[in-house]
Amino acid sequence: MTASVSLYIHIPFCRKRCSYCSFVSYAGRLGDIAKYMQAVKYEISQRIDGRQLKSVYFGGGTPSLVPVRYIKSLMESISRYFPKSGKTEVSLEANPCTIDNTCLKDLLNAGINRLSIGLQSLDDGELSTLGRLHNSQQALEAVKHARSAGFDNINLDLIYGIPGQTVSSWEQTLREAVNLSPEHLSLYGLSLEPGTLMMELIESGALPQLNPDLSADQYELAEEILEEEGYRHYEISNWAKPGYECRHNLVYWNRGEYIGAGTGASSYLGGRRYNNTSSLDKYLEEALAGKTISIENDEIISPELASAEAAILSLRLDEGIDMEKYNRDYCTDILSVYNKQITELEGYGLIQNDGVYIKLTPRGRLLGNEVFWRFLPELTGETNLHRVATE
Ligand code: SF4
Repeated sequence: MTASVSLYIHIPFCRKRCSYCSFVSYAGRLGDIAKYMQAVKYEISQRIDGRQLKSVYFGGGTPSLVPVRYIKSLMESISRYFPKSGKTEVSLEANPCTIDNTCLKDLLNAGINRLSIGLQSLDDGELSTLGRLHNSQQALEAVKHARSAGFDNINLDLIYGIPGQTVSSWEQTLREAVNLSPEHLSLYGLSLEPGTLMMELIESGALPQLNPDLSADQYELAEEILEEEGYRHYEISNWAKPGYECRHNLVYWNRGEYIGAGTGASSYLGGRRYNNTSSLDKYLEEALAGKTISIENDEIISPELASAEAAILSLRLDEGIDMEKYNRDYCTDILSVYNKQITELEGYGLIQNDGVYIKLTPRGRLLGNEVFWRFLPELTGETNLHRVATE
């Protein structure tokens, strides 16, 4: 067991589903927020494990829809149950049209010290294609409000590869976002998920198909611009000013342990990974009756899976796989176990091995999934690791 643990709290409420959304989120259930926060408080009280909290992350859904008094009260409970240090990173995801100066100051006072704002784009047409509720003006104002409220650690989420988005509209969004001087940027390539409105619209021809070549150009442009602006590209989709790398997400990428609370939340503890039920009704019913929360996708991570997962997650990071550490941690010799894959991927110019680290090349960063699946053990059926590798 590691000396510290992280805590993820899932807030599944949204005003409306975005067209591309495949997260555990519920529209039209805002009336359940008070009950839900009580349920989460109960769940957290059942999951105390005595370790210090490295990070807390309120993700969603739309955590910024929750009235701040509930966040404050939950933070007080968390502090009672888990020791925190001055260094504990506490992030909250916010949507631009749900925050104002007063609530942002209150969030800061409640102990939130990192704000992740879902800008997604600064082009009104693209925001409307994504089905977002905010416009570019509200997005810009949200960041300014966060700054004036006193947040000094702000992440902006942006999406590239949006149907209809050009390289030049992406460049404009990116440059405007950088002008806001965020400490951190997460850039996600749009992916089409089954059952989403976006997929329906593309299949019916109402929206153009996704264009992977254009997305690759947009990604390369982002790498260029953000490097010029002094951001470190520390993970495939994440850039930070020095010292502002997201501690919570680094726990995931470094295979640290985390507790997930709330509906659909994932936990990784004692070599086991599992999700809480993704049914909001079931979660509320069980937690409010003081019962154990039902779980889904329960998986024991075998030594074989653990080492494959470590290889894949390390390759997502800029330093790549530290071979000596990897061999020590997994009692193995990476160059023998993955000899065929490493040789093949080096041949394709997707990875490089400098004798100490194995890392993705710039081309490998563009084609990450082509690299990752080769490290998967041959298994029957899909595992959580298969999802990690192909997302
Ligand atoms: S705000 Fe996020 S979680 Fe909510 S519907 Fe949109 S993409 Fe999904």
